[in-house]
Amino acid sequence: IYPDDGQTTSELLRNADSAMYHAKELGRNTFYYFTESMNQSVSRRLALEEQIHGALERGEFAVLYQPQIDIRTNSVIGAEALLRWNNPALGQVSPEEFIPIAEQNGLIIPMGYFVLSQAMETLANWQALTTRPLRMAVNISPRQFRDVQLINNINQTLAQSGLNAANLELEITEGVLMSGQTYINETLSKLNELGIQLGLDDFGTGYSSLSYLRQYPFSVLKIDRSFIRDICIDMADKELINAAIAMSHALGLKVIAEGVENETQLELLKEMDCDFAQGYLFSKPISAASLLAFNEHETQVCFPLGGHQHE
Ligand code: C2E
Ligand code: CA
Ligand code: CA
Repeated sequence: IYPDDGQTTSELLRNADSAMYHAKELGRNTFYYFTESMNQSVSRRLALEEQIHGALERGEFAVLYQPQIDIRTNSVIGAEALLRWNNPALGQVSPEEFIPIAEQNGLIIPMGYFVLSQAMETLANWQALTTRPLRMAVNISPRQFRDVQLINNINQTLAQSGLNAANLELEITEGVLMSGQTYINETLSKLNELGIQLGLDDFGTGYSSLSYLRQYPFSVLKIDRSFIRDICIDMADKELINAAIAMSHALGLKVIAEGVENETQLELLKEMDCDFAQGYLFSKPISAASLLAFNEHETQVCFPLGGHQHE
């Protein structure tokens, strides 16, 4: 609106454009007035887009691992690989910020292979320390499914690491399924036939469609941390989690709770018969070296649970 949002035609149009992008980001069928902070977020985005090119080649990415725990036995069952970006100009950038950009410009494809190969190498080293089967969860975003080399590359990475397909779990969100494209369906079936585990990530934040669970070969359902956060305060959230667990079990799926930060949450999840948990209560995401040490000293894990650990 003139003159508050711009003195010239081009400034007005540019700011209107920012407001439109902002509205689109919030979903369709909405409108948004321009604010000054939108310009800041536009220039931040430009800086990110500029810096992310070549970041992989410059060695700015690293993979951290967050242990996952079996609630019934207090033992570590595996870990989730989480990507980190440390850029000289921007500092530490959150994946929530850079993954959507990498999705858009396609860089998520080489970045995704970097995560996969790092994660499989780490898992191979970790698995060598124990006879208990461990698994590694790797996040795969929608754009990666459009890559025709996906299955080949996963197979190759698995072969190089000497691990079984069953050691690998791919976490995907409903966003991947929503397009309803046939190649998605085919890719998921192929991955499943190879013996790779599929996990439905961020359950509770999107449509949480029950039909997806029936339609696609998932073996794990991951309840989003926003639900776990309010589990002790919000009765409705608690009932929803309860229902999701019962339903998953009926369909033969395991359930993992994300973002478990305190004992009260863990106790409730235990009562609800939730299978696995992951969160700051056990460990923040840690380096590969720390992950290997984490397994050796499992008392670290059972200490906050107040249990005692069998060897
Ligand atoms: P996500 O898959 O839902 O991952 C879980 C996020 O919750 C991680 O954030 C993790 O650090 C955080 N978290 C875990 N436990 C707790 C807890 O107890 N409390 C709190 N407050 N947070 C906890 P992170 O690492 O910042 O990752 C954010 C998102 O970025 C991920 O959400 C995932 O969607 C995406 N992402 C991360 N790495 C990759 C990757 O390699 N590939 C793809 N495609 N996406 C990735
Ligand atoms: Ca995940
Ligand atoms: Ca989540």
